[in-house]
Formats: sequence, structure tokens, C-alpha cells
Amino acid sequence: MKRKILIANRGEIAVRIIRAARELSIKTVAIYSTADANSLHVKLADESVCIGPHASSESYLKMTRILSAAIATGCTAIHPGYGFLSENAAFVEMVESCGLIFIGPDSKTIRQIGDKSSAKTIAKSVHVPVIEGSDGLVENLEDGLKISKKIGYPVMIKASSGGGGRGISIVYNPKEFKEAFFRTGMEAKSNFGDDALYIEKYIEEPRHIEIQVMCDHQGHCVHLYERDCSMQRRNQKMIEESPSPFISDMLRRKMGQTAVKLVKAIQYKNAGTIEFLVDKEQNYYFIEMNTRIQVEHPITEMVTGIDLVKEQIKVAYGLPLSFDQRKIRIKGHSIECRINAEDPLNQFRPTPGLIKNMIVPGGFGIRLDTHIYPLYEVPPFYDSLLAKLIVYAPTRKEAIKKMRMALEQFVIEGIKTNIEFQYLIMHHTDYIKGHYDTGFISKFLKLVEENK
Ligand code: ADP
Ligand code: ADP
Ligand code: MG
Repeated sequence: MKRKILIANRGEIAVRIIRAARELSIKTVAIYSTADANSLHVKLADESVCIGPHASSESYLKMTRILSAAIATGCTAIHPGYGFLSENAAFVEMVESCGLIFIGPDSKTIRQIGDKSSAKTIAKSVHVPVIEGSDGLVENLEDGLKISKKIGYPVMIKASSGGGGRGISIVYNPKEFKEAFFRTGMEAKSNFGDDALYIEKYIEEPRHIEIQVMCDHQGHCVHLYERDCSMQRRNQKMIEESPSPFISDMLRRKMGQTAVKLVKAIQYKNAGTIEFLVDKEQNYYFIEMNTRIQVEHPITEMVTGIDLVKEQIKVAYGLPLSFDQRKIRIKGHSIECRINAEDPLNQFRPTPGLIKNMIVPGGFGIRLDTHIYPLYEVPPFYDSLLAKLIVYAPTRKEAIKKMRMALEQFVIEGIKTNIEFQYLIMHHTDYIKGHYDTGFISKFLKLVEENK
């Protein structure tokens, strides 16, 4: 089959996919909105098609236009990246019915496991530990109150279609419940077009630890160990590392086996991530599965030496995995800092605008995945992610030192970024010791505020 891929995304991940395809000698087609005409992914792809105005709903989310672009340019596959349509079962169904390859799992699988509440039910049915909560969706306020009373406060109200940290509320007592229930439902409806909610117990001071999995069409499934993504702001990841400084080797192996058991049970295909929360006693609980490549995939690539995006493409075109479980070994330590156009001291408000000048870090063990360049104008319409700064070193201590140096040498002029904030975290004694949970950043910010 002739291989040519349309990339249904923008920004750094579109660039990442173009590079992987180029190494495999596969031609690529970029799509872009009018706001992205000068974007790097457009310049790097072999061909490009403008698919609409700046609003995502009129461009990167416009399924029929994306499919027309793929067919008109003779593409045989679509890579969705992350965000946008990457976990949209209706889109994947359309891709399949057009006879194109979707670089990811099939629509049926996404429908099953992409929905967070239904994923929990499936996980539970194959004896994967889940957080105590509602059995499926919560239909009304009365049921919500009843379930919360039963499991005990604090509880979390979560949108079943939610993602990117949105559509999640914490409720400390029954008095707060009603307002939070309706607000979260409305938020979910406007962000994800679906107001289905479920409830689970709030885990105190958890670590977010996720397992990368990869499965081919020949029935092989492997895991590529964990990423610790506990450094979060507003339930969204900001710094990730692999391996996790928190878990024991025994737990590492157990979580890997659990992840493989789950994906085998659903006959999963391609790359995916099983997300878990781990409590202080090292109990782990499944929270959701992401049926796509993840933002933080590079740290797994650095410690395993495996190019996940190339593997995704090969598997989608029907090739078997190029490694088995025994060949996957963790070596060294990798950290990723998400460099965002945002103001940490102003509720992480986005700070788009013109990049007047920039100097990027480099050297042994430093990787920068980005789409920005000098005089690039960061549009206000999309994600605030500017770059992923990734370091790799033999030990965690050396990786932290390398990250400090790289952050010091990273200059972006013209817009505010979170580089300095990341630099501060890299010097925090608790971070250095590996003592942190998902509440670290909000506590750290309070301290900064008090000392302002
Ligand atoms: P990761 O799990 O890969 O770290 P994030 O949660 O940071 O990903 O999300 C990556 C991007 O995808 C963000 O732009 C986020 O807003 C978007 N995203 C994630 N899930 C969804 C979803 N269900 N609907 C819409 N956008 C989503
Ligand atoms: P998303 O789809 O937005 O990624 P997740 O279900 O993965 O949503 O949760 C995102 C983050 O929210 C988690 O990494 C964690 O920090 C927090 N979180 C989610 N569920 C719970 C819970 N039950 N208890 C405590 N924190 C939670
Ligand atoms: Mg998640």
C-alpha cells in the first residue's frame, strides 16, 4: 500500500509526527487554519491544506473537511496527535468508512474505553483496582448526594468525556454538592458536548503515575513502564519524569502487568496510556485510559530508546511490534518540562503574542520538541504549550542539574512564559528529594503569594 499520512493536528505534535514519518520515508500532508498559515508544521510537511478559519470548531474539529483533504491529497492514513479529534469515536468511524487507516485504536475500542465512566466499569470487570465511586453515570442530584454520603466526603465529580484537566470538581461537603454538580455538568456540556457525570472518592495527596502501552495487530501487547506526572496545575500536567522516584520496583512491575492485562482484555491496538493514582500507602487505582499518543511520551522514548511515534505508524500499517517485553529496559532518567505561554502568578492565564527573539538550549542529553521560532506569533485560539524541554541523564540528580542548566539558557522574548517558574521548582528541596504529590504546585504558589 502506498503510504502517505495526513496529520490532523497542529503545533509541536504535528512537527513530531512529520519528523517520524520523514524518517520512515513516508510523505505527509499538514492541515492548518488561517491563524496557522505561518506555522512550522505547514512549512515542514510535504504538502499542506488550509481547512478553515481560526476557530477549532471550524478547522481542526471539522471532520468532513479533514477527510476531504486526506482523500484529495491521496493519503492512506490519518494521525490524530493528541487533543482535537484524537479520541473522537465518530471521527474514527468516518475515517474507517472512507477506507483510510486511523493511526490509533478502532472506533469501537475508543467508544468503550475512551469514555471515562465506561472505562472504569471495564477495568473493574477484569479486576483492575478502581477508585470507589458511582457505578457508572450519576443521573440526578439525589443519586449524587446519596452516593457521596455513602463513600464519604471529599468526593470528585467528573465529566465522563472530560480531558485536559477540565470537567473535574472537588466537593468537601453536602452543602457544596448541588452547585458543583450543576456547574460541572454545564462545563462538560459546553467543553465536550456531553454532560454525563460520575462520582469518585477524592484520593488525598496522590501521585499520578501512568503506564505506556503498545499493541500490534498480531496480538502482541507490551508496556513501556511508567511516567510520574504528579507535578500538576489545575489537574493538568506540567512536569513529568520517568522512572517515578516514588514507586518500588515491585509496584512498577505490578502496575505494568495490570496495564497489559487491561489492554489485552479489550484487544487494544496501537499506543495508549493507562493512568493511575497511587496513594500514600502505594495502593494504585485506575482512573482513565488515553487512547492516543500523549504529550509526555518523549520521556518514555528517552529511557527506553524506542521511538513511539514511528512504532505507532508501523503498527497502524500492519507491521508487528519491533520489540517484545523482555527487550524493553529502563536506562537512566528523563524529565520533561512543559514550556507554556502562561503567567503562573496570574492563575496561569494564557499569554499569546509575538515571539520577538529566542535562544534555545541544546547539548548532550537535551531535546526540544517545539513548533516556535523567532518572530512566530503565538495565536490566542489554541493550547498554550510552546515547547517540551526534555532532558536525559544517567541519574535523577544529574537530570535535574541538566534541566536547570537548560532552563537557564532558554530565552523567549516578547511573551511571558513559565520558564522561570519551572526553574524554581527544579530547586525546591521537596522536588529534589522526589517528595511531591498532585497538590505541590498549588501549595508552592500559596507560599510565593505570601512572600510577595
Ligand atoms: P496528556 O494526557 O497527553 O498529558 P493533556 O491532558 O495535557 O494530555 O491534554 C493534551 C491536550 O489535549 C490539551 O490540549 C487538552 O486540552 C487536550 N484534550 C485532552 N483530552 C481532551 C478531551 N477529552 N477533549 C478535548 N480536548 C482534550
Ligand atoms: P483528565 O481526563 O482531565 O486527564 P483525569 O481523570 O485523568 O482527567 O484526572 C486528572 C487529574 O485530576 C489527575 O491526574 C489527578 O491529579 C486529579 N484527580 C482525578 N481524579 C481524582 C481523584 N479521585 N482523587 C484525587 N485526584 C484526582
Ligand atoms: Mg488524565
